[in-house]
Amino acid sequence: MSDIKRILYIEDNPQNMRLVGKILKVNGYDMVGALSGLEGVELAIAQKPDLILMDINLPDIDGMEATRRIKAVQSLAHVPVIALTAAAMRGDRERILNAGCDDYLQKPIDTVQMMETIRRQLARVEAMNSFLLTGD
Ligand code: MN
Repeated sequence: MSDIKRILYIEDNPQNMRLVGKILKVNGYDMVGALSGLEGVELAIAQKPDLILMDINLPDIDGMEATRRIKAVQSLAHVPVIALTAAAMRGDRERILNAGCDDYLQKPIDTVQMMETIRRQLARVEAMNSFLLTGD
């Protein structure tokens, strides 16, 4: 069994998709990409990723609606969702967190901050899982 974590990136901008794909690969993660919210929800269900990066402005359902649908699936409810939002959406932080996103990053993407956030969220899930297993 592989220990490589798989990250689903839901993003309609192909340049961002390529850039983030390279960064994740360099950092030892696998990336699966979806170009729309609905495709993203389907892929999340099919692939059960370890973490989801969620663009908010998407061509069909937005990232908040996609997050709500993903979090409503019991087997995905624990998967961290990190929202990526355009600067124009500053102030919508509450709405994004209320939709069920676990964390929030602003575009343009700061790659160091993004990797820190990904590692922190994955560590949080692992700590939660080991707590559930051991009862410590
Ligand atoms: Mn977008």
